[in-house]
Amino acid sequence: MILSLLEKFPKQFTPREIQKDLISQIEQELKSGYKKIILCAPTGVGKSLVGATIASYFDSSFTVTASKHLQDQYVKDIPFLKSVKGKQNFPCLKLMSSENVDNSRRAMRWGLTCDKGQCQERISKNGKEIIEVCKFKPTIKQVENKAQDSSSCTYYLQKYDALVAKHSLWNYHAFFQIMKFNKKLFEDYLDRKVSIFDEAHKIEDQIIQFVGFDIFSGQIDECNLNSEKYDFSDLDSMIKLTDDIAYSYAKKIKDIKESPVFQNEPDYELITRLERRYDKAAQAKIDIADNKDNFVVNDPIRDISGNFRTISVKPIDVSKFAKTFFETEYQIFMSATIDKNSFCENMGLAKDDVAFVDAPKSPFQIENRRIDLLNIRRLSYGSTEEDEIEVIKTIDRILDEHSSERGLILTSSIPRCQKILRFLSPKNTRRIRICHSNNKDGKTQDEIISEHASDPTGVLLSSSLWEGVDLKDDLSRFQIIAKVPYPNYKEKRTKAKMDKFPLWYTSKTLTKLLQGFGRSIRSEDDWAKTYVLDTAVNNVFFKAQQMIPKAYYDVLGMENL
Ligand code: SF4
Repeated sequence: MILSLLEKFPKQFTPREIQKDLISQIEQELKSGYKKIILCAPTGVGKSLVGATIASYFDSSFTVTASKHLQDQYVKDIPFLKSVKGKQNFPCLKLMSSENVDNSRRAMRWGLTCDKGQCQERISKNGKEIIEVCKFKPTIKQVENKAQDSSSCTYYLQKYDALVAKHSLWNYHAFFQIMKFNKKLFEDYLDRKVSIFDEAHKIEDQIIQFVGFDIFSGQIDECNLNSEKYDFSDLDSMIKLTDDIAYSYAKKIKDIKESPVFQNEPDYELITRLERRYDKAAQAKIDIADNKDNFVVNDPIRDISGNFRTISVKPIDVSKFAKTFFETEYQIFMSATIDKNSFCENMGLAKDDVAFVDAPKSPFQIENRRIDLLNIRRLSYGSTEEDEIEVIKTIDRILDEHSSERGLILTSSIPRCQKILRFLSPKNTRRIRICHSNNKDGKTQDEIISEHASDPTGVLLSSSLWEGVDLKDDLSRFQIIAKVPYPNYKEKRTKAKMDKFPLWYTSKTLTKLLQGFGRSIRSEDDWAKTYVLDTAVNNVFFKAQQMIPKAYYDVLGMENL
């Protein structure tokens, strides 16, 4: 190693003491031969700059993060990262041309985006079936040689630009998509020295989207299958259903191709769509049948009339699949809340091969992030009505104490949100905005938060804002954790995973809880008070003692342990 790691700190910033300390610890671990390092550091430490330092040190890298918002933040701070965004963020030139729209902004407003474009089509030419590639689509070689047309598709330009660059920035979905399906296609461009995985505690949820199968009622209808013939609680029956779906798509494709209508006027778009569905079902069947003990059938979701809507078959242990996504020689996993043992077990990493760097303290003053464990009642499936009401009365009292401020109430489920709303006093009920990832009136989470921002005493009530939202400064001066966010063990996968990996269940609960603590304190000058009402929190802290990151010791009174 020629330079010290710190010398690679992004030049436009001055490293803070805590960043210097973490960089020095990481350097030690690298020198000792570790190639996989977990960095656990709370909000405010500036992990992204530490990640950028490591990326720059190794001279070629992938940085992978969890949301568009975080991606934007990275691009702003670290310009040497070439960012890849999803197709929905770019206007499709082909659609613009067919709709006679010459203004990109208007195209975006009208929804003529790249995710709707057909980048390659099968067409019939001189009686022969050929693939026609969109004339705006550049090749990666053209981009590499800077020989692309100036009017090329902007989505592919930025994607290929990132793939040929030494340092690129991805969201998990786009990155995993390449690692799972397109490794061969881009093999010349995936040889990078280090991967920096930000928000690494979310990796499992990302991987799970790429393994297993989701079956929808529309699919069963499309395949002319009778859902009543299948047992939705039995894995073998679901494998049979997946197989029947694949068979039905294969037959459809064959019948359509042989039909006189298709011979005269081929609809290749339809065939391509069916082939994609066939591939997905056939691959899922192989994955699941190959390792049946590792898959669980979740309960089907039905509509209010009891009709089947959707069901998913998901793996319990994702470690077997995780390796596909981690290929660079060096791997850095960063998060504010991550436990080494549970993470390694979950991802199939040998603990001895992984170094753990834990930030010694929070960069924020303790006065700004006080947590009050009020121990009102224990909430669970078996709680009495009296317990529930007592907790809601306490929420009412806290809202009265903070009558002139904005705040946040976090709980574990939508029915619990509704119950809180039903029993609050009328004056406090008027302050509440329920905010979920999908809202009844079709409003997005961002829309509800911006309404909240214009209400000086507004309070958000949610079961989903535990992560991924920044309620900085006076957007929230108090937060109430009404119920500890245990994963829902009524969900079969959660139950199966919990039985097999008890560490996972505790770690998952702790992670969500600690993420919740951080929603309203986003910078050094920011402050908010947190109240925890559910006494189950003591149980979590007791069981998870060894997993609690050092940065929380002061605020949880654990400094002398
Ligand atoms: S290559 Fe780009 S412009 Fe062409 S169809 Fe695809 S998204 Fe649209």
